[in-house]
Amino acid sequence: MTTSLVTGHLLDRIDRWASLCPERMAVTSGGRHLNWRELVSHSETLACWLEQELGARPGPVAVHGHKEPEMLVAFLAAVKCGRAYVPMDVSIPEARVAKIVEGAGAALVLTPKRVSEVLAGFSLPAEVPKLRRVEGKDPFYILFTSGSTGEPKGVVITLENLTSFTDWLLAEHKFTEPGETFLNQAPFSFDLSVMDLYGSLLSGGTLACITKDELSNLKLLYQRLAESGVTCWVSTPSFAQMCMIEKGFRSEMLPHMRRFLFCGETLAPETASQLLERFPEAEVWNTYGPTEATVATTSVRVNRGVLEKYSPLPVGYPMPGTHVVVVDEGSVPVAEGERGEILIAGPNVSPGYLNRADLNAKVFTRYAGLPAYRTGDWGRSKEGLIFFEGRMDGQIKMNGYRIELGDMEANLRALPEIADAVVLPVEKHGKIDSLAAFVVLAEALPGSEFEVAARVKTRLGERVPPYMVPRKFHFMDAFPMTPNGKADRRALAARLG
Ligand code: AMP
Repeated sequence: MTTSLVTGHLLDRIDRWASLCPERMAVTSGGRHLNWRELVSHSETLACWLEQELGARPGPVAVHGHKEPEMLVAFLAAVKCGRAYVPMDVSIPEARVAKIVEGAGAALVLTPKRVSEVLAGFSLPAEVPKLRRVEGKDPFYILFTSGSTGEPKGVVITLENLTSFTDWLLAEHKFTEPGETFLNQAPFSFDLSVMDLYGSLLSGGTLACITKDELSNLKLLYQRLAESGVTCWVSTPSFAQMCMIEKGFRSEMLPHMRRFLFCGETLAPETASQLLERFPEAEVWNTYGPTEATVATTSVRVNRGVLEKYSPLPVGYPMPGTHVVVVDEGSVPVAEGERGEILIAGPNVSPGYLNRADLNAKVFTRYAGLPAYRTGDWGRSKEGLIFFEGRMDGQIKMNGYRIELGDMEANLRALPEIADAVVLPVEKHGKIDSLAAFVVLAEALPGSEFEVAARVKTRLGERVPPYMVPRKFHFMDAFPMTPNGKADRRALAARLG
């Protein structure tokens, strides 16, 4: 059976697996699953219902849930009736969900429960209507990431953007025959999940999701991993590092593992080296890119040779058809080996943030006749490889999560009891381990500092996801100031020791 099909509409390339391998599992999650026949037919039914329900009402479909199989049904249904989807994980608090739904102008919000109810109660009409699905430059999904003003910003990814990324992913890793099982670690509201989700959907694979309950119980997690049959691991390096705490996390536990694909944060040479030792049959890859350029734009296989030659590791070679260049302030490439900002140009670059012309004008541009994005990442290029050297601004990565320090500060300042706030990263063993908040209260509050901090954390937790809430609070009467009258972040950082 020849199954490779690398042209045609992305949705046709996904749907054909329902006839090629109908009984194969398309997704397994939290003890539940859907096979390929069910996934495709449910998404068609839900698409027809959406069309009837929404009619001419404009807007994308927001999908609010966790790792339930119905999430995939909802994503595919939305695009099958011509609408982008906006994935929102349950870890996002209600107030932020409301901001995202409003900011996206969503036509409706689907939850896994609602999807199940529709599928149980809705029958397809005798003559199934032909729906206008998402095409070319239409938005396919909109992902909301941390924004420095405290308002999440929506990155629009079109069908063309996604197709250019997935064509490369499939070709580079030869994901053309069914039989792969992809690990899904990241929530669907993070673009890392797009790598495993569409890697799996386009190759007739099985998506093995790790749920938040499994993540919070290591015994359950290792049990799930051992039973998963994963062949392709997609995660942040932090997650693999966490798994390696368990000595049994090796090829005996995951005997079918063929490759580890990392993205989203620095891959330490020690992590890659330990994985090669524990999984001698598997390949380890480092990939790099921002949500604004569809998941990843560079990649490199990290083998023993690469480990011997480079420390820190490179983030990779550019995807064919793109330019990943290190530029100066005027977007002019700097000489090889010089430091500058990483700029990405190519068919994978988003048309911009939703309704944010102000921001778009700053970071989205054109380069070599292609749409381009200034990443805000420091970097260098050497021997055709790109090296990442940190951020130029207040955006950080903590355990793989993208956080704008300004987002946290704005959300703290929005609390009436807080007059001013500065949030700083706290490093441990060269990695960001937690956040610390320096806070000036609007007025003295009753209770010990510990009690006040606990109350502020609870209030903050109503506005931002738990991973963003600072671990430590330092209360001050006033901030030390720089000569130009700004809070002196350096002086505050020095207090962290
Ligand atoms: P996100 O949009 O959440 O994927 O975050 C994108 C940012 O994560 C990039 O702009 C980089 O700052 C960082 N990043 C992504 N991949 C890597 C990598 N392989 N190594 C180091 N940093 C990375």
